Amino acid sequence: MHYVSTRGHAAQQNFSEILLGGLAPDGGLYLPQSYPQVTGAELDAWRKLSYAGLALEVLKKFATDIPAADLQALTAKTYTADVYRNTRKQEDAAQITPLRVLQDKGGRKLILQALSNGPTLAFKDMAMQLLGNLFEYTLDKRHAELNIFGATSGDTGSAAEYAMRGKRGIRVFMLSPHKKMSAFQTAQMFSLQDTNIFNIAVEGVFDDCQDMVKAVSNDLEFKQRQKIGTVNSINWARVVAQVVYYFRGYLSATGNNEQQVSFTVPSGNFGNICAGHIARMMGLPIAQLVVATNENDVLDEFFRTGVYRVRKSAETWHTTSPSMDISKASNFERFIYDLLDGDSARVAALFRKVETAGGFDLSGGPGSDGDEFAKVARFGFVSGKSVHADRLNTIRQVKQDYGITVDTHTADGVKVALEHLQEGVPMIVLETALPAKFNETIREALGRDAERPAGFENIEALPQRFEVMNADVAKMKAYIAAHTGL
Ligand SMILES: *Cc1c(COP(=O)(O)O)cnc(C)c1O
Repeated sequence: MHYVSTRGHAAQQNFSEILLGGLAPDGGLYLPQSYPQVTGAELDAWRKLSYAGLALEVLKKFATDIPAADLQALTAKTYTADVYRNTRKQEDAAQITPLRVLQDKGGRKLILQALSNGPTLAFKDMAMQLLGNLFEYTLDKRHAELNIFGATSGDTGSAAEYAMRGKRGIRVFMLSPHKKMSAFQTAQMFSLQDTNIFNIAVEGVFDDCQDMVKAVSNDLEFKQRQKIGTVNSINWARVVAQVVYYFRGYLSATGNNEQQVSFTVPSGNFGNICAGHIARMMGLPIAQLVVATNENDVLDEFFRTGVYRVRKSAETWHTTSPSMDISKASNFERFIYDLLDGDSARVAALFRKVETAGGFDLSGGPGSDGDEFAKVARFGFVSGKSVHADRLNTIRQVKQDYGITVDTHTADGVKVALEHLQEGVPMIVLETALPAKFNETIREALGRDAERPAGFENIEALPQRFEVMNADVAKMKAYIAAHTGL
């Protein structure tokens, strides 16, 4: 299996070669030359597999340059009941992503697929835990080391730290805005005592952290010498790891391959639902892929109109589903490449236009950049939007009708899923976080605290390990160099 850039860069790479990198050299994103296909016989066989077994089968199709026995060991070590133990019901932990039927009346079935039972209580653990093990394995083979440098406003940073803690050859330097994360999120990250994890609280807002990462990454000499890498959502291995749970959800919700299901995905950077798109391209019988956004509705706008219009910082709202507060969707280029039949010259031109003119228009209207919006339905995509009042209502409604508390992001998903529910096609909503992470809004909706999984009761009281720094790039570089010794 070889990988190509969405913008046409010639050199083809294999899975291990793109594992540690980010963007392709031409600024594009990596995709496989063609999507591997899954036969009915394979799907039948996969029905009986454990989650780790299924992850192995999916990974084998994409990581053809890693020996199957090694992939087997890596997936078996990653997807265990112990790592994914934060289930509502203890006996469900072995399923890794258990389903829960919320509603089943008149052929209209609504199901929740729990993706948030890992160590940081958000779906990012699903991919990041595998990435940590893949990184360690690859670096070990090359006798190499890697220093991950990133910025977080919450979920990504903690998922990365919990995946990389204690791993040989890896250090994590993670910037976060000082005193701006929730107490729970702060405690999750700062209570880690592993010596390869460095938490840096920056005096400023998230954008200041992001700017520091950019400034350091633009110094290519420093970046090379310090072996700096990232783990952001465009990483191809993360996308592949996410493909697995679409297969799991489908196989668990159906009895045979004649049946179809739909998925609703609370979306921000389009990483999660991009994996659903890939599963569908591989032949998984998915009827609809429903993109659910919050007030930051860049993606909803595209899937309603064909116009992709990125937002400025001043138009990017801080909402109560903060992990979906994005101004542009960094994985969206992968879908546009498929929508344009792999025409990389046009993809490159459109995404150059995003930089220069703030977006593009595929509606086919006067002055538009193309008419491919007409083809979007063929890929199963539809969309919807949910705002703060919807979230509160949905959290209350789900609690009242089904007796469980969903987090704010999942509530956005449930709200939009109900608008697209079709008779005879089960709708699976991906649960992207547990409510304990966003307790402030749960209190607002329900008037009481969200339940916390065992072991998290007193997390805020644990000793914290972090460094406060002002937004000073030179100081940051000196700090990294001092701790890597490179
Ligand atoms: C990251 C995140 C999302 C958005 O996922 P994308 O892959 O960026 O679309 C949604 N919900 C939660 C809880 C998240 O952490």
